[in-house]
Amino acid sequence: MTSSLQNKMFRELLGKEIFEAAKLSAYDYAEGTFSRRAFPAKAALSALEHFAEDLPQSTGDGPEIIRALHAFGSPATVASTGGRYFGLVNGGAIPAALGARWLADFWDQNSALFKSSPVNSKLEEVCEAWLRAIFGLPPETAAGFVSGSSSAILCGLAAGRYRAFQNQGWDINEKGFRNAPRIRVVTGRHAHGTVVKAVAVLGMGVENIEWVDVDDQGRIIPDQVPELDETTILILQAGNVNSGSFDAFEILCGRANAVGAWIHIDGAFGLWAAACSTLSHLTRGIEAATSWSVDGHKTLNTPYDSGIILCRDKASLVAALQASGSYIGYSENRDGMLYTPEMSRRARAAELWATLKYLGQSGIDELVSGLHARAVQMASELRAEDFEILNDVVFNQVLVACENDVTTNKTIEYVQESGECWVGGAKWWQRAVVRISVCSWATTSEDISRSVKAFVQARNRARHDTASV
Ligand SMILES: *Cc1c(COP(=O)(O)O)cnc(C)c1O
Repeated sequence: MTSSLQNKMFRELLGKEIFEAAKLSAYDYAEGTFSRRAFPAKAALSALEHFAEDLPQSTGDGPEIIRALHAFGSPATVASTGGRYFGLVNGGAIPAALGARWLADFWDQNSALFKSSPVNSKLEEVCEAWLRAIFGLPPETAAGFVSGSSSAILCGLAAGRYRAFQNQGWDINEKGFRNAPRIRVVTGRHAHGTVVKAVAVLGMGVENIEWVDVDDQGRIIPDQVPELDETTILILQAGNVNSGSFDAFEILCGRANAVGAWIHIDGAFGLWAAACSTLSHLTRGIEAATSWSVDGHKTLNTPYDSGIILCRDKASLVAALQASGSYIGYSENRDGMLYTPEMSRRARAAELWATLKYLGQSGIDELVSGLHARAVQMASELRAEDFEILNDVVFNQVLVACENDVTTNKTIEYVQESGECWVGGAKWWQRAVVRISVCSWATTSEDISRSVKAFVQARNRARHDTASV
């Protein structure tokens, strides 16, 4: 017996009209990748109202639904797969990885266990080994595949928290915080917001963070680090989210390891410097840390969502995250949920594997050094137009300012309005700055020059405004 809805869906799965509609829409979207506005026009945003309807009373038409998504959704996307979106640290999507993702979407695997997805288990195992090799991490390092660095940082700090309590004979899982001994969190004043969030979520208390002063690039000043001990979690940074700077890992890890502190490195986008022959000096010493968090979806240009927690203290990571239940059934093979907060997850290792397999060592090297080269080009062309560059462009980030904050903020607004490229703003040592993140494989030197032109025009307009008030 089959219901009419089942029959409809059997036909749709095998009849392929839905997937043909999706394929045509996707190809149409891809064709517009390099001509699309960096941020949607006002009309496209207004047209999003099309989606604001009551829940339909009855079953719809599959291909129609896909076509509507393309007609009203695609124009309201940001062009982060193009070459001129410089907001956040977005990264594009490598074609081979998109292809892998399509296929893996059809698999619809649950990556919790080997027995719920043997193929994902194997791909995770392979990626884990490749990532250890890429970053030069110790052989005992385990990896968990999560949605992004927010989650990966949470995992690293949860493992560190478990260990810091364990070092004092306290099982935090069993006993919780009541009457617990003290643990410490030490990090730089420029730690990323998701680090602070993880500290809060894990109950360690933002007020308890021992903040360390940073230098003009946002790097922890080693002399300012307080005395560490085995109850401490020290959080370092590979890639300041504004300036792109890197902490002094060799010195700091040496000091922390001498007293048994836990060291977590937030390397969301910057850890990839380790994979690049001309930039690996930036990550010197990272292998001495205890845990590392890094994204696939930023510098490496995998599609969303792809974050990785790497941890040399596998026992603590597993102790912090393991779940049990009589139906779960861990195996001799790799069971992904041991290393992640989630139980059910999609098979995101498929596109990470495809990206690494496609690029290989030389491709990753070229990708990462290319982002750096484009950032350096951006800085130098902007400087030639009399913009001020406020950071050392050591990686992919460029911080730019005009003569005053009003002009800087207006320039950002007008650049965004132009649709030529997209940049956000930030505060850098009390000054308003344009924050540029070069992170897509698709960005060319022409994209950079074209964006610089948009900057000059926007600043002219901004100056005109100020002159006329
Ligand atoms: C982006 C970023 C994060 C958060 O990562 P998500 O993948 O967005 O969750 C954390 N730290 C740094 C330095 C980042 O750039």
